[in-house]
Amino acid sequence: MKAAIICVGTELLMGSTLNTHSQYLSLKLSEIGIPIYYHGVVGDNPERLKEMLEHYYQTVDLIILSGGLGPTEDDLTKEIVCEYMNVPLVFSEDLHQNLIERFKKFGSRTMTPNNLKQCYIPEEGIVLANPNGTAPGCIVSQNGKTAILLPGPPNELVPMVDNEVFPYISKLAKGVLVSKYIRTFGIGESACETEILDLIGMTNPTLATYAKLGEVMLRITASGETEEEAQQLLEPVLKEVENRIGQYIYAYDNEELEVVL
Ligand code: AMP
Ligand code: MG
Repeated sequence: MKAAIICVGTELLMGSTLNTHSQYLSLKLSEIGIPIYYHGVVGDNPERLKEMLEHYYQTVDLIILSGGLGPTEDDLTKEIVCEYMNVPLVFSEDLHQNLIERFKKFGSRTMTPNNLKQCYIPEEGIVLANPNGTAPGCIVSQNGKTAILLPGPPNELVPMVDNEVFPYISKLAKGVLVSKYIRTFGIGESACETEILDLIGMTNPTLATYAKLGEVMLRITASGETEEEAQQLLEPVLKEVENRIGQYIYAYDNEELEVVL
């Protein structure tokens, strides 16, 4: 399974909201070994969202989308995804009753007709409960392609992912990804790459270098059916990297230089 993430919202493009969902969702997918092929951010614009779906679905099977599930005119993620997948939206009386109950609890806030938009779900889709807001999430599949639609506000998205989405996609995932980060000091990225160039073309594990502030970090990532299997694949590459550039390695993973010093 290959995945992509699309965050919808003009506020993300304008910089007024920091896109935290891309990182959060990527970390969650990586934990269960699902590779992410694209991150996209698109405004509240039907044509460009559709273009992005068309482009990404040429490569991936799963797209997780966030934002645009609200009651207002510019919230159009569900409508566009369903139109793209050719899946009709159907009115859910259950969701309608939930919404009525929710507004009763609020007391002072009244339900307006545009709230009814949030009672429509993709036919045969899976509804994801949202205890922290009015927009339910949903999972819709068609012809081997799956879209998971999540609300934008982080306090709604995060619990939905933890409680419902993560268990669902863990079942689809076939393995785990294990990563080891190697922290080096005193060698530049180009010299570092030259030492390990023949290892960089490997596909499992993969090896990459990152130039960071004051250091070069290397990442080895192995995928396996179990954590043990991934670890076994990773170990010999780690040893080989240590053989080649061991004199520059000061730490692993999240250990910072000043702490090691
Ligand atoms: P929406 O579901 O599109 O109406 O988004 C509601 C709110 O969620 C936005 O105004 C943002 O504050 C927040 N939000 C939406 N997308 C993101 C994101 N990718 N990262 C962080 N916050 C977001
Ligand atoms: Mg929005």
